[in-house]
This record gives sequence, structure tokens and C-alpha cells, in this order.
Amino acid sequence: MLQFREAAERIAEDWRPVLRRGEAEVLKQNRLRDFSVSSDGAVVMAVASGSQSYTVQLDLHNQLPTCNCNCPSGRGHPDRVCKHSLGLLLWRCEQLSLGSDGSDQGMQG
Ligand SMILES: [Zn+2]
Repeated sequence: MLQFREAAERIAEDWRPVLRRGEAEVLKQNRLRDFSVSSDGAVVMAVASGSQSYTVQLDLHNQLPTCNCNCPSGRGHPDRVCKHSLGLLLWRCEQLSLGSDGSDQGMQG
């Protein structure tokens, strides 16, 4: 499994502006809730709230992270990432750096 931090850095090379928006507009404003982490830790899901709610999923089983979000930016573009996906990735990195598996944030597996 690809490490989350490595994935974040890999993403940041291509989508650095989106990553900044994900941190400033999603993560720092606590727009994510209902976190769910798969038992192997490679798939993270959350609900992004705002003017509308979107379901965000991040799958790190592959070499490159797969992001799924039904917001206008992410919808129908499997190779694209949106600020919600990257906000979720940053959240997961924070959880891991804090030594938490995130299970206290929501449903597990
Ligand atoms: Zn999105």
C-alpha cells in the first residue's frame, strides 16, 4: 500500500493549487464529516458539507491515488481530483501523524 504522505506529495506535484484549496477551504473549515477508514487503511471516505453535501472517497491501493467525489469538479472525471479529495487526503495524513487510525472519527471497516 502506498503511504498516504507519499501519495500527498505525489499528488502535490501535479495538483498543488488544488491541494492548497483542499487545505484552506475544506480541511481548515471542518467541511469533512462522517469519516470512514477501511480495515486495511487504504480507502478513506467522508462527507463534504457546504452549500451541498458530497461523498468523497480516496483509494490508495494503486500506485496513484484514486479519488472519487460527486461534486462538479470531480464528477465524471476519474483522473481528476477536487479540493474535497485532497482535503480528505490531508486529513488522513494528519491522523497518521497524530498516531490515530481515525477509528474514533467514524465507522470502521
Ligand atoms: Zn469534490
